[in-house]
Amino acid sequence: MIVDLKHIFVNENTSLPIEYSLDMSAVDFSGVFPLKKPVTLSGAVFNKASLVEIDAVISYVYGAPCDRCGVFAQKEHTIRLKKPLAPKIEGDGSDTILLVPDMKLDLDELVYSEVITDIPMKHLCRPDCKGLCSKCGKNLNEGACGCPEKETDPRLSALAELLND
Ligand SMILES: [Zn+2]
Ligand SMILES: [Zn+2]
Repeated sequence: MIVDLKHIFVNENTSLPIEYSLDMSAVDFSGVFPLKKPVTLSGAVFNKASLVEIDAVISYVYGAPCDRCGVFAQKEHTIRLKKPLAPKIEGDGSDTILLVPDMKLDLDELVYSEVITDIPMKHLCRPDCKGLCSKCGKNLNEGACGCPEKETDPRLSALAELLND
């Protein structure tokens, strides 16, 4: 959706509330489609003393197998978005200023790019996920598997034997 912000830009002390949701369920992250629920944006665009700014919260639910144990896990993430808007950028302000050519805000593009850059690099079912046993493959969150805690390095045992002789 494109929002025309012309009347916000030209009228001081005005605001426009924005509630939007974007379907990103077709977005593929390394073979999984983690954004099953629509991504929402809730907030407003303000003109305060000629400074036009967006202040909004984007929420999305990320659901994918845990990076450590492989069990499907869902987590809600929120992004606080507070940025000045400008129809043109002079110099190099493109990181801090949101460009709105023609005073038109493309909400799909905004939500999409904010979510893509916010997607967690590591997705765990819980912060202290114990993962899977490297020997038997048991999910260690469900309890210990009974494998010996640590494999003795065969080179070290050979050394220990030498020392014992
Ligand atoms: Zn896990
Ligand atoms: Zn094991």
